[in-house]
Amino acid sequence: MIRIPNLKLEIKKAKSSAAEKEALKNVILSKLKVNPKDLLAFTIFKKSIDARKKNAIVYIYTVDASLKNEAAILKKGCKSGLTPSPDLSYHAVTPGSATLDLRPVIIGMGPAGLFAGLILARNGYAPIILERGDEVTIRSAKIDTFWQTGELDPESNVQFGEGGAGTFSDGKLTTLINDPRCRSILEAFIEAGAPEEILYLSKPHIGTDLLRETVQTLRQEIINNGGEVRFRARVTDFLIQNNQLTGLIINDYEKLDCRVALLGIGHSARDTFATLYDRGVTMTPKAFSIGVRIEHPQSLIDSAQYGSAAGTTGLGAADYKLSYHSPNGRSAYTFCMCPGGYVVAAASEANGVVTNGMSEHRRDGENANAALLVGVQPEDFGDDHPLAGVAFQRQWETRAFALGGRNYHAPAQLVGDFLADRPSTNWGSVKPTYTPGLNLTELKDCLPDYVVATMKEALLHFDQKIKGFAMADSIMTGVETRSSSPIRINRNNDHVANISGLYPMGEGAGYAGGIMSSAVDGVKTAEKIIQQYARFSSEN
Ligand code: FAD
Repeated sequence: MIRIPNLKLEIKKAKSSAAEKEALKNVILSKLKVNPKDLLAFTIFKKSIDARKKNAIVYIYTVDASLKNEAAILKKGCKSGLTPSPDLSYHAVTPGSATLDLRPVIIGMGPAGLFAGLILARNGYAPIILERGDEVTIRSAKIDTFWQTGELDPESNVQFGEGGAGTFSDGKLTTLINDPRCRSILEAFIEAGAPEEILYLSKPHIGTDLLRETVQTLRQEIINNGGEVRFRARVTDFLIQNNQLTGLIINDYEKLDCRVALLGIGHSARDTFATLYDRGVTMTPKAFSIGVRIEHPQSLIDSAQYGSAAGTTGLGAADYKLSYHSPNGRSAYTFCMCPGGYVVAAASEANGVVTNGMSEHRRDGENANAALLVGVQPEDFGDDHPLAGVAFQRQWETRAFALGGRNYHAPAQLVGDFLADRPSTNWGSVKPTYTPGLNLTELKDCLPDYVVATMKEALLHFDQKIKGFAMADSIMTGVETRSSSPIRINRNNDHVANISGLYPMGEGAGYAGGIMSSAVDGVKTAEKIIQQYARFSSEN
């Protein structure tokens, strides 16, 4: 197979997958100058959109092609970037020999726990997964109730439950990490029902609707391979003797003997962070970001990004990613952009309002939304306790709760009013998507001054990049505080914490950010267990 980069196709030639395949075949033939019968087969490895020239938007492809006379073609084409296609298959690690006398336990079933569980189960390690929230169908019903009535279940919500924090998300699978495991994770999602395009799109996404289905299929695969999954099973304490983990307490009463626990609890398990701290697990405070969700009409973003091509079949809803460095030393950026999506109530703790965003696979909602965030450092937390960042988040979440009316309605303000420093009193042309409701007010009352000041500068800067970004009627909903973990749980190169047998992993432990990197960290952590221990056998 030969890898061929930088193949361009006009977007109008790729309106259906059959048309795209035929047009791409012709582009390959003309680039390689080979006879059609010599091109045996090809697959798309990467596909992205180049929209720099609005009147000539093209798709850019890298393909892997199987050809007759590959050696000769490679020799002739090495200057134009042709290379042999690399081996992308996942190479399982070799099991170690230490005896695993108890089944490994995974705490938390977000992407880190789910994929650690999958790898351990597939390799014969029979993991037990403990998840504090509900399985995804019950969880969905609980979340719907919260979004309709404001009745929060602190154990089963947008942050907690099967699939973890990203299950009610846009399901973006982009990541900045370049790890060969990413492909095997995408393949597992596809086997579980996700669309095949996630393997090659440069910005793949699943959407909350499909993601909810895939996590259930992955759970079943874990069970079919000897794993066990327990929902409504919150780990409430850690039993430690001579610096070795010896057991877990579940729901304050059940004791589970355990010598190996993978800790994938996410960034919102504040009670568990506190318990770990009390039990002597070492952790350090970490920088994160806070701000708001900003909502625009999707049509505004489409026109700004695609010009007159907006709406062309296959192009989809446009996205954006913006950043700004203020002379005040702070940085603002957009994060977790959800084209055609919804702003969601994402609280996991009573008396706090937290926003986030999600979209369905079709991304066909009327509005675009993204987090508009400003970075905060441990020095901003006002205390050097390792959990000071948690207290800092909570402070702004409870202020937002009060401003919203103490019923999980969120405080909101129109951008025009925010820039003019006056409270909003009426909605404009943009219809908000957040439920259970919004209270128009002034967001400066639930954000630090330096965040407000930096956001104002950033809005004007972003307006130069995307015309209309600072349009007066666009809506800002507060507060977005859970952009990443406020702590890092220390671990060594074998992924072990200062307590033997405890393996912190994923976003909550501070080693990942997003679905893909958390899943990769889960896989890597499972590999550490496999490399050390022989497969679990009940006769051990
Ligand atoms: P989590 O997914 O947070 O999972 C941790 C799990 O541990 C939870 O299910 C929790 O219930 C469980 N748990 C916690 N404490 C305990 C305990 N004591 N006992 C038992 N179980 C426990 N990222 C992207 O890459 N793309 C996106 O489009 C995207 N959109 C998002 C939208 C929303 C609304 C949210 C909230 C997040 C989004 N993210 C997105 C971020 C992404 O979800 C996280 O980065 C990712 O889920 C982190 O994975 P994790 O496994 O480390 O932790």
